Amino acid sequence: MDNIIKNIAILGSTGSIGTQTLDIIEEYPDKFRATVLTAKANWQLLAKQARKFLPKRIVIADPSAYRFLKEALSDLDVEVACGQEAIAEAAAIPEVDTVVTAMVGYSGLIPTVEAIKAGKTIALANKETLVVAGEVIYDMLKHSSSEIIPVDSEHSAIFQCLVGEKTSQARKILLTASGGPFRKLTASQLENVTVADALNHPNWDMGAKVTIDSASMMNKGFEMIEAHWLFGCPAENIEIVVHPQSIVHSMVEFNDGSIKAQLGIPDMHLPIRYALGYPERLATDRPGLTLAQYGNLTFEAPDYQKFPLLSYAFDAIKAGGTMPCILNAANEKGVAAFLAGRIRFTDMPRLVRHVMDNTPSISNPTLEDLIATNSDALARSDEWLSRNS
Ligand code: MG
Repeated sequence: MDNIIKNIAILGSTGSIGTQTLDIIEEYPDKFRATVLTAKANWQLLAKQARKFLPKRIVIADPSAYRFLKEALSDLDVEVACGQEAIAEAAAIPEVDTVVTAMVGYSGLIPTVEAIKAGKTIALANKETLVVAGEVIYDMLKHSSSEIIPVDSEHSAIFQCLVGEKTSQARKILLTASGGPFRKLTASQLENVTVADALNHPNWDMGAKVTIDSASMMNKGFEMIEAHWLFGCPAENIEIVVHPQSIVHSMVEFNDGSIKAQLGIPDMHLPIRYALGYPERLATDRPGLTLAQYGNLTFEAPDYQKFPLLSYAFDAIKAGGTMPCILNAANEKGVAAFLAGRIRFTDMPRLVRHVMDNTPSISNPTLEDLIATNSDALARSDEWLSRNS
């Protein structure tokens, strides 16, 4: 195992998780190779990455950027492709061992499906894939040699707590949340927060979509659904614990009352390194955690009234079927509208509630049902936005 190089495909290589994954590949040149890199639209950075890491193939989703990318790399022996289908195709090429799904939102679904069909190891950073299609994905995994290793820091923590344990002896997941930048605001103060306020996360440096989701606590709702599928844990056995210091990345309680936790500095390089190295731990020179520097680690219950999206996530998983897909689609529209200055922060849960209440949910959905429901919920969100923004 030690001398085998793992070939990595990074879907979303120019984003926050993507660039940090490339840091890890650079840190261990004898263990990993960047074989496929894909991006949505940032062709300049993708070209720079291709020049540095010399992957076999790169793909840009945005067709208008393809010509520039191709021209910029005309002197390199790198395959250049474009479009969403080419991304899904690149994830499944035989040279690839592990696919890091680091793209944003719903766009992660189809490439992940293709990678599973091709038997790849999935280093899952795109939580929306499991929110939208957890049932379909886990059904596919039963018939595939593919496995999912979580990259999300909380799920990496839970995964690590469960190593060497019987899952059947775990009785509860304690999913920690920083509480985001608005933890201490009153409900009325929350009405007037700006985009800049919401983008200013206290602990984690992340992309815009997940940072807004963290501020609204939608992110924690998604992570609850993600944990439900990853660890086969009923939602009622997942407890959200607000832990503002983000040092305890999550915990598992066992049937003897014992709790295991995983701790570390809030740095995504940790869970990415673990996911790529698994089952090995990879030694690093990067600094670890100095607990005395933090002094106090605190824990409190979340405020479901102030952050209704968190309770809508529990509603959605309880309803099952396509309801989590509807939740995700409405939230994607809500986040985009908030970032564009069209609606207020507190309009996001109003939009999501409206779309959840007015889009029919289908039980035991197929992938096609999910694709149709996603379009349906996006259209309903647009209707609401045109009336309310
Ligand atoms: Mg997380």
